[in-house]
Amino acid sequence: MTNKTRMIEALSNGTVIDHIPAGQALRLIELLKLKDSPHAITVGLNLESKRLGKKDILKITGRYLTEKESAEVAVFAPDARINIVKDYDIIEKRRSALPAELHKILVCPNVRCISHSEAIDSHFEVEADRTDIRLSCHYCEGVFSRSDIRDYRT
Ligand SMILES: [Zn+2]
Repeated sequence: MTNKTRMIEALSNGTVIDHIPAGQALRLIELLKLKDSPHAITVGLNLESKRLGKKDILKITGRYLTEKESAEVAVFAPDARINIVKDYDIIEKRRSALPAELHKILVCPNVRCISHSEAIDSHFEVEADRTDIRLSCHYCEGVFSRSDIRDYRT
């Protein structure tokens, strides 16, 4: 039995997010608000990967990521493979793809940004930039990279 089949067999229903760059799984847990959810979460950190060197894996029992959430995953895991599992079968395979815009999800890293003081949702335009991404704030026009993001809306 390979590691791969063992990993999938362990999950009867839910979502497997594979090919997460090492160190980003914990950020996805924040992003997807998994800590406060009732679902069982299995996290693999710094696993061997031929393609990435090291990778993280997330398994979420009993929860299926929406298409929108799958797109949000791409912010921190641009090459993630998202497998939707039902009754031990992968019923859907998705590749994460960057959304053009992000609403509500991220907190603007600019402390002076009006999105902090006004009751408005954050709003970023998203562009891929080789290995990183460019997040342009709709309000303060600041441009940020992945590592600038420190906080998420709850
Ligand atoms: Zn801003």
